[in-house]
Parts: sequence; structure tokens; C-alpha cells
Amino acid sequence: MQEKGNISIHTENIFPIIKKFLYSDHEIFLRELVSNAVDATQKLKRLSSLGQYQGELGKLQVEVAFDEKAKTLTISDHGLGMTAEEIKKYINQIAFSGATEFVEKFKDAKDANELIGKFGLGFYSAFMVADQVEIQTLSYQEGAQPARWICDGSTEFEITDGSRTERGTDIILHINKDSEEFLDKARLQEILDKYCRFLPVEVKFGTKTESEPDGEDEEGKAKYTSVEVDNIVNTTDPIWTKAPADLKDEDYIAFYKELYPFSEDPLFWIHLNVDYPFNLTGVLYFPKIKNDFEFQRSKIQLYSRQVFITDEVKDIVPEFLMLLHGIIDSPDIPLNVSRSFLQADSNVKKISTYITKKVADKLAELYAKDEKAFADKWDDIGLFVKYGMISNDKFYDKAKDFCQYKTTDGLYFTLEKYKEHIKANQEDKSGNLVAIYATDVAKQDAFIQSAKKKGYDVLEFSHPIDAHFIQMLESKVEKFTLKRVDSETAEKLIEKENTLTSKLSADEEKAVQEVFEKAINNKDRKVAVEPLAEDELPVTVTLPEFFRRMKDMQAMGGGGGMSFMGNMPEMLTVAVNANHPLVQKIIAADDESVKTDLAKQAYDLALLSQGMLTGSDLTNFIKRSVDMTVK
Ligand code: ADP
Repeated sequence: MQEKGNISIHTENIFPIIKKFLYSDHEIFLRELVSNAVDATQKLKRLSSLGQYQGELGKLQVEVAFDEKAKTLTISDHGLGMTAEEIKKYINQIAFSGATEFVEKFKDAKDANELIGKFGLGFYSAFMVADQVEIQTLSYQEGAQPARWICDGSTEFEITDGSRTERGTDIILHINKDSEEFLDKARLQEILDKYCRFLPVEVKFGTKTESEPDGEDEEGKAKYTSVEVDNIVNTTDPIWTKAPADLKDEDYIAFYKELYPFSEDPLFWIHLNVDYPFNLTGVLYFPKIKNDFEFQRSKIQLYSRQVFITDEVKDIVPEFLMLLHGIIDSPDIPLNVSRSFLQADSNVKKISTYITKKVADKLAELYAKDEKAFADKWDDIGLFVKYGMISNDKFYDKAKDFCQYKTTDGLYFTLEKYKEHIKANQEDKSGNLVAIYATDVAKQDAFIQSAKKKGYDVLEFSHPIDAHFIQMLESKVEKFTLKRVDSETAEKLIEKENTLTSKLSADEEKAVQEVFEKAINNKDRKVAVEPLAEDELPVTVTLPEFFRRMKDMQAMGGGGGMSFMGNMPEMLTVAVNANHPLVQKIIAADDESVKTDLAKQAYDLALLSQGMLTGSDLTNFIKRSVDMTVK
């Protein structure tokens, strides 16, 4: 039998076009051909289990072998094979129809990338790396004759009798000059490890040592030396394909270590398993995060029926979940994914929503099961939960019930419980609950001590994301505000009816204010004389909450349109404690320079306690202190 023909494509040279636009991704040809071999194998298994194939199945492996001398790469399977008729139908018509359509659309498309994603590359992606592609195949059907198909990437093909004696298919690629990397063992191994690691049929990888047929079988057909097997590249039943009930914690941890060899144990994991309205399986792990923004780069891998697709899952997994590790597998995501395709695909959107929900449910479950254990893990997962709450309303709605608030005493509360905790003491005169927080426990120690003396509790919000988190909380939670512990004197942090009374008359207060204004001599410092407790510091320097937030936003590059502020001056408030003995001493002094020195000293002490006294101000302060000590 011999038949020559023309693949029914109107456009002559489709391959140059395809090659050009798929340039960076040439390696995927191997994924496509091995997947086809796996499909052919599984189809045969199915036929066998349905009783439609009664022969022996034998050892159903896929083999990938290269021959450096002959410059061939062969992908073989023991699957269902093809008859000559089937080659004509599936390879000539179907496989190439994708290409035809591609070229038709390509003519008037603006964005080539967008197009590529819509067409499966399939079989003909082999022509990206081969001058000539040959198929040797024998169908499982009774009485089938072996068939051979050969094509050089033009639209002409040839079908003749084949030489294959066992059921299945060989795809033989005559690797072209530019693609010799695909005859390199290490390179091939790398590609197989990347795409084929979890394929459901065993894949052997080896070297074919003989390029010439080394014998003949009974019918006089050429026989090749079998593949010299080096290794099996895959695990055929990775854990995400199993039922959660059949798996132990050790299995999940072992799989994690297999994926990320040098990582610490994960904190916990979620086994995804859904088949309606879309199909999705997978395991997502919560890693121990070491540094803050480690989740820039995704560690999640996307598979489709155990074939690796990509680790660029940006459009499938919501951004805040990008720090999770693991695998998701969905046949509903097309093999050849392009960015714009994913963004528009409704299945992809549903998957993203589903994953968000599963993650929130898992966290809620862990919290419900053991509050203490959950709190213990909080330092590792808090950042990501907060990020999720800020960026995703649905996640917020679930997370608000388990999100933890850590106090400077190391206690953890949910918001509702925390509100109960501070209710008695931290309600202001208009009925708002005021939560007080520190961003730097060491630096703000003096303020924290003062707040605690007033019986207030202080939360710890030490991450840059907390500035956003706080704003979000205030916008969502009614009658609830947050104030940084150093934004006011302890007395004023929470405005209540019965504040302390001043020991000074109005005239004295004004005089004291003027002494300080003169001593400080800086128009960006607002001096206020306030009645505070006697044992508080004589002077406290605070940065009002409003200004600080503007600065924080500016520092993070946010604050939309706030750039007019330029380099915003530090609008600090200098609170002078009217009831402190030092103030009495200033009033009593009759020498102007003594008054000024005392005021300066008190102001510098306040700056010093906050690590804000530097340079010549610090030197002058030390000099003045020494002088005063001598006097
Ligand atoms: P797809 O796999 O998306 O259908 P391909 O272009 O990869 O598209 O393959 C076209 C068809 O050729 C397949 O659907 C299958 O029927 C047939 N085919 C390809 N490779 C093999 C193989 N190794 N064994 C049997 N049939 C194959």
C-alpha cells in the first residue's frame, strides 16, 4: 500500500508562522506527544474494561528514547494504535484542522498570543522541532495492518504499510538543526520532569543506541533494538488523585517534601475535590513564611489531567492566595493557556471563587476545632489572612470571625471577643470603642506603659500591611476606631467626659505654652498644655493619627493623589503636663533663661524617650544635662 496526498489546508506554509509565534515554548511538543501516548494507553484500558478489547494489555508504558547519531527522538506507546484510515481522519484532518483554523484567524488578528491560546497545538507541534515526523502504528483492532505516515512539515504526506509488530504507536521525530537541544539527555530529562512528573501512565526515558534496524522479524520486517531504559520519570498516582480518607498526614507531608525538597513542614493543607460545576482536584499547602512578601512568586502548579501546564497561576488563584504551595488539577482549564484567555474564561473565575471559599472554610474549621492551636499558628498565617480580607470581600466575610488580634501581652482575640475585652474601659464619650495599637513595641514602650497605667489594652500591628488593614476595619466595623498608642497622650487617647483637672490657671497655662514655644522654636510643633496625671512624663511628643496615616500611605506609594504633600513636615504635637512638678518649677523660676532651659530639657527628654533626639540637638542636650548636674 502506498498513498500520497495533500493535507487539506489552503494556506501553504503554516509551520513557519506557528514556529515563529511559539518560539519560546518549543519544549511543549514533548508534553503534547507524551500526552497523546498516555491518552492512547488509557483509551485502550477503557476499551479493555468495557470488554471491547479482549487481547492482552501487557505492560502499558510510554517510552521516550533519543538517538544522538540518527538525530531522532521517538515517543512510543502500547495504546490503541491507529489504522491507516484513522491516521487520515485524526492526523490529516483533525490534527491539522486546528492549524488551518489558526492560520485563517491569524490573518486578521491583532494579538497573536491571544490566538495561540485558543488552539490546541497537539500533534503538529512536533514540527516546531522536527524536519520530518514519522508515525509507525498498529491498531488494536483485529486483523489491523501496521501503517506508516510520514510528513516533512509541508502540506504533503505519505501513507505506506508500516513495520510495527506490536499494538501501539511510535512517533519518530527527525530533529531539525535548530533543535538539537532536544537530543540532549539532561535537557530531555528536565522537560520530562517538568511536564510528565505525575502522568497517570508510566513513562520510561532512555537512549536508543542503534539507529539502524538490527534484525528482521518472521515476516521480514525491520526490527529495532529496544530502548535502553535509564529510568521511569513519573509517579502515576500522586496524592491529589486519591481520596482524602485514604491519606494520612505523613502522606501529605511527604508529598510536600517531594515538591519542595528543602522546605520546612507545611502548617496545614487543603485537599480540593470537586466535580460540579467544574472539575477540580488538588492539594494546597500553607507554608511557613519566612519573610514578608515571599508571595510574589507563585509556588502553585497547574495541571490538567496530571499533565503539567504552568506555574503561572496568577489568573486562576486569587492574588492573596499566591503564597500557598501545591497543585491544582483541572481538565476544565485548556492545555494551552494564554493570559487573556484565562481572564475571560468563566470556569477559571469559578475556580478562583471556589478556592477562596475552601481556604476560608478550612481556616474556620481549624479555628473552631482548637482556638489555642489556631492562635499559635497566627503569626505565620496572619499576614495572608489580612491580605485576603483587604482584597476580597467574600473572604473578609468569613475571615472576620476567625481573624486574630494579638495584644502586646501576647494574647489573641477575635474581633468580637476583643471588643468585649475592652468594652468596659475603652469606650469614648460618643459611644465609640477605641482600640489602641502599637507598631513598634520596643520604640513605643513609654506610651504603652502610660496606656496600660490607664487600664487600656494595646494591640500589636507591626506589619506594613496593617496600615491598610486598620483602614479597612474602620470602614467595615461600626462604632469602632483605632488609634496608635503614641498619637496622643494617654489621657487623650480615648476622649471621656471626666478628664483630670488642671492645677494651673488659664493665664499660667498660656504662660507655660509660650515658654515652651520659645524654647522649641519650631513652627511644625504644636504646643498644648494639658492636665495629665502627676506621675506621667512632663512632656510627651505625639504624631496625630491623621497625619501619621497620611505619611504611612505616602510611604507605601499609595494614598492616591496625596503627592501634593511633597515631603510632609512632621506635624508633631508637644503635650505639656500641666500637673507635673517640673511645670510648677518653670512657673516659679524668675530668670527667663532658666525657664527656657528647663523647657528645652523636658522637651528633649520626651524626644529622647522616643529615639528622636539626634545630631547637634543630642550633643546640646548632653552638655546642658552635665551643666545642670554640676549646678
Ligand atoms: P488532540 O490530542 O487534542 O485530539 P492531537 O493533534 O494531539 O489533538 O491529536 C489528534 C488525534 O490523533 C488524537 O485525537 C488521536 O485520535 C490521534 N493520535 C495522536 N497521537 C496518537 C497516539 N499516540 N496513538 C493513537 N492515536 C493518536
